[in-house]
Parts: sequence; C-alpha cells; structure tokens
Amino acid sequence: MRLLISAGPTREPIDPVRFLSNYSTGFMGLQLAREAIRRRHRVTMVCGPIEEPMPAQARVIRVERAQEMAEAMRKEAAKADAVIMAAAVADFQPVHFARLKLKRSGRLTLQLKATPDIIGRLPRQAGQVRAGFALEARGVLDKARAKLKGKKLDLILAQDAQSGRGPFGRTSLRAWILEGNGKATRLGMRTKRQIARLLLDKVEALWYGQRGRTSSS
Ligand code: C5P
Repeated sequence: MRLLISAGPTREPIDPVRFLSNYSTGFMGLQLAREAIRRRHRVTMVCGPIEEPMPAQARVIRVERAQEMAEAMRKEAAKADAVIMAAAVADFQPVHFARLKLKRSGRLTLQLKATPDIIGRLPRQAGQVRAGFALEARGVLDKARAKLKGKKLDLILAQDAQSGRGPFGRTSLRAWILEGNGKATRLGMRTKRQIARLLLDKVEALWYGQRGRTSSS
C-alpha cells in the first residue's frame, strides 16, 4: 500500500522568534511509519518539527505551520491508498504575524483563529482509507464518534487525555478504535507500538477487503 502518515506538532508563528505549539513529539506517527515499513508498505511522512530520527526508507516532507501541512497533505493524499493523520495540529494560529520581534510589555492580547481542518477537508479519493486520532478529556467515545462522522473518517483512534500532558511524551495510553460502521473496540492501556500495529491491521483489512470485493465482482 502507499501510506501517507502525518506526525508531530505544528508551529504557528507569532513573530520571527516565537510560536504557538503543543507537546507532541511525533512518536506515534513514527511508530506507525516504522511498522508500515516493516510490513513492506511505501511510506510518505508529512512531519511537523520533531527531533526523533526518521526511518531511512520513508519519504519525508518537513513542514512547520498547519497551513503548510494542509498543502503537503493535499498534494500527497492524491497518490495515497491510505492516509493516517497522527499529527497534533495546533488548533489555533495567531490572526496577525508581527514582522518584528514583539517587545515585552505589561500585557499583550493575541487574537487567534482556528487552523484549517486538514483531514476533514482532504478531497475524497475513491477507495482511500482514512484514519485519524481524537484526544478527549471527557466523553471520549461520544466525541470521537462525532469526529469520525464530521471528518468523514473510516477509523478513529480515540485516546483518553489522562492527566497532565495527555499522551504526549508517553509510550502508552488508554485507547479505543472506532470504525465507520459504528463498531468500537476497547483496547485498554496499550503501548504506542501496539496501537500502531492494531491500527495498521484495521487499515489493511479495509483496503484489502474492498479490493478483494472489487476484483471478485
Ligand atoms: O478536532 P481534533 O483536533 O480533535 O481532531 C483530531 C484529528 O484531526 C487528528 O487526526 C488530527 O491530526 C486531525 N486534525 C486535522 N486538522 C486540524 C486539527 C486536527 O487534520 N486542524
């Protein structure tokens, strides 16, 4: 399969030396890429700023802002059999970018606007499998179900935000996999490596299942 995987955070610049971001390290996306390569899929990664080493066999496109990630994903998704959106896209970006470094002053109000919904706005490709992630503090399953539908995904990996920084920087998390047909599987506490395997099993089952149906009809 040709797999497109996004990973890591995005950075939304405030001025030439400052940005808004989150604690994502890109670990989940990298686990997915490594497992996909092990299964002999062709992998393209669109990565925000992450420090972990990239798998040598993956094609890697580095981006910084959500807008750049949206453009790269749009271009690459046209050639992908499956898209897995594991990036922790910043939800907000400053409305104005200050060309000169802002001076420290008593108070500063930043006006923010929502970043584009990257996976939700990708043009639909026939047969393409789409998977996303949801990180929720409360009502995990209901909110993840709404995202699955709203973003027109085939699969969503729902995570319990737990405490503190949620899954960012952790190797394991409490998760569920939700499928387009409404089926929800409780995975319990799993390592990100195990989650990568389980998610890829589902992506492959959807892709090869539909191909099997097409070739036999
Ligand atoms: O809406 P929320 O951010 O919780 O949705 C999570 C899913 O949507 C993740 O798969 C994430 O990568 C993706 N996402 C996106 N574009 C955004 C924000 C999130 O594609 N601007």
